[in-house]
Amino acid sequence: MEFKTFSLTESLVIELEQLRNKYSSCEICNLCPKKSGINGVVRSSGPVSSLAIIGEAPGSDEDDACKPFVGRAGKMLDKLLEGAKIKRQQVFITNAVKCRPTQNNGKKNRTPTLDECESCRPWLYKELEVVKPKVIVTLGKVSTESVLALPKNFTLGEYVNKPHETHLRREGSTEIVTDMYTVVPCWHPSYLMQHGRKKFSEAVDCFKLAKKLVLQ
Ligand code: URA
Repeated sequence: MEFKTFSLTESLVIELEQLRNKYSSCEICNLCPKKSGINGVVRSSGPVSSLAIIGEAPGSDEDDACKPFVGRAGKMLDKLLEGAKIKRQQVFITNAVKCRPTQNNGKKNRTPTLDECESCRPWLYKELEVVKPKVIVTLGKVSTESVLALPKNFTLGEYVNKPHETHLRREGSTEIVTDMYTVVPCWHPSYLMQHGRKKFSEAVDCFKLAKKLVLQ
């Protein structure tokens, strides 16, 4: 797969690193390390690439490693990429929410709330503005909602493996803040662990489609 390559000294890579430094000290919501006292900030990983993958939020493995998708969900993501013959080093990987949402005093992971997603969204959009991917694969409902304006209570299955063209807008504003992206919604890897072969091959198809769109 063709992808943009930049050396560590080039301006986009520097801009991305500066942005990661900024959101690492963000204190907007209660998930930030200062307020939660539990978790760190999980920064995006991978190169400035034509293909971006957006997950939901880090879990405990990711929080420990400070990298997205390193635990069981990450192993499943690796299988999806392998199924589409995409190398992990070729893609930019980030999350809709950068800090781990927890329950039971930090013992369990949980889905981020809409407010938490909203607080983190400007960071996500800024990352996309720097990386400018040609295609974005969103993993699961939370990340799909972060980039596509969808009806409340939408069913993810109706959107999976269908490309959507979109601009990203600031919350509550009609002002367009980014270039046009093609978004391919996909099942979340954690969901695939419970839902067998059929959903798995649908998810691989999402990555095959994304790759085809990148190469077009
Ligand atoms: N699930 C996600 O959505 N993101 C991660 O980084 C890990 C698990």
